[in-house]
Amino acid sequence: MKKTIFLTLVCFALLPFMNMYSQEKITDPKDTEKWSPVPVVVTPGEGTAPPSDAIVLLGEGNDLSMWESRDGGEVEWDIEDGVLTVVKGKGVIRTRNYFGDCQLHVEWRTPSEVVGEGQGRGNSGVFLMGRYEVQVLDSYNNRTYSNGQAASIYKQHIPLVNACRPPGEWQTYDIIWKAPVFNEGGSVEEPAYITVLHNGVLVQNHVEIKGTTDFIGIQTYKPHADRQPLVLQDHGNPVSYRNIWIREL
Ligand code: MG
Repeated sequence: MKKTIFLTLVCFALLPFMNMYSQEKITDPKDTEKWSPVPVVVTPGEGTAPPSDAIVLLGEGNDLSMWESRDGGEVEWDIEDGVLTVVKGKGVIRTRNYFGDCQLHVEWRTPSEVVGEGQGRGNSGVFLMGRYEVQVLDSYNNRTYSNGQAASIYKQHIPLVNACRPPGEWQTYDIIWKAPVFNEGGSVEEPAYITVLHNGVLVQNHVEIKGTTDFIGIQTYKPHADRQPLVLQDHGNPVSYRNIWIREL
């Protein structure tokens, strides 16, 4: 037993020297080059246009074939020249396709005519996997609770800064999403993580998702499949969306 401990200690003591030795051994720069895998070629879009490998969820026309209503029927929001606008009372909409880990680009606009205040002004939301909300809100000179303002992870994470443009102007979200992983029994093996840029400004830096972004109470995970639809919220305000694309990771 004593001998084993002694040998372990000797090994640890020698580690730095072994490391030095192995570092000394590499003299050819080619030894540290990696030639595989070769990254797939992707053509980036002009400005915020989708890159060549993106799935376009909302493009330039009035095509809503990627979307359905809450009950699986046709979307009843307004669509005009690629601009999709919430119609109060018509309910959330969701993608027909299901997604897990992804990069998501969304453009949104709150009404230029300012109506209401706090959570009642330009409220909508981007729900990753149908249950984790990145808040959409007119947070330009509109105070509400900080973990419920635009670019918050609703009631979980306050955005690092308020990068909101004035009402009536188009805004962007660029989101990197790492889906949660559940054990067979339903417990969380790995929580979800999210990074959000709001109008190009980092507002959520790889933050851990604590669970479903519920309105009331402590937020916890409810296990679900590894691919889920993307959902946009009807919160009763005529918020508009355009140019939505997603890249599966
Ligand atoms: Mg909302």
